[in-house]
Amino acid sequence: MIKDEINTITQELPEGVRLVAVSKYHPEEAIMEAYEAGQRIFGESHVQELMHKHEQLPADIEWHFIGHLQTNKVKYLAPFVALIHAVDSPRLLAEIDKQGTKCHRRIPCLLQLHVAREETKFGLTTDQAEALLESGEWADAQGVEIRGIMCMATNTDDEEQIAREFETARQFFLHARATYFKGREQQFCECSWGMSDDYPIALRHGSTLVRIGSKIFEQRQYT
Ligand SMILES: *Cc1c(COP(=O)(O)O)cnc(C)c1O
Repeated sequence: MIKDEINTITQELPEGVRLVAVSKYHPEEAIMEAYEAGQRIFGESHVQELMHKHEQLPADIEWHFIGHLQTNKVKYLAPFVALIHAVDSPRLLAEIDKQGTKCHRRIPCLLQLHVAREETKFGLTTDQAEALLESGEWADAQGVEIRGIMCMATNTDDEEQIAREFETARQFFLHARATYFKGREQQFCECSWGMSDDYPIALRHGSTLVRIGSKIFEQRQYT
């Protein structure tokens, strides 16, 4: 049952770590089952689907956008999105700033780091992320607020590989916080990594937000 999965997962999360229930492709009834178990943070990766669910479902749900976001769609999410996880270009960040300013919101977002071996995954290299932070342009932006780092590990059974990738992200996060967020550490505090198959590893490498979908909503057998 969805409710049991939510309870099992949230009980094993260390203090300070939050669950993003990834509900993409799953119907509103499934989300409501998780909601009734107390879950309030849901993650979606398609703009249309998220807008529809946001309209239909309870107003106290915190909607996170976790997928690759096209700049021309930021405006649809700007009024309500609680966290944009996967900012992968200065251009996208600039558009979030613009749309957030229009809505009189500083939209929280994370920089997506490309740490996986797969070429197909999106994200900034550590050099690109460093350059973006170093530019300092975003420190006083009115419409956007950088809250931390997000990454996806390689889809592999090699747990050491996955651990190395999460650790790369964690080291970058610690470096960025110490270098660019001195005195504002509370603003830059989120590490979004860990999915159904690798979140136990992510928890050992500093994750503060785990994004779990299939384990909750697809009821596969996990060992
Ligand atoms: C789908 C998705 C998840 C959840 O993956 P599961 O393996 O179903 O837990 C997490 N993060 C992102 C970015 C996703 O697109």
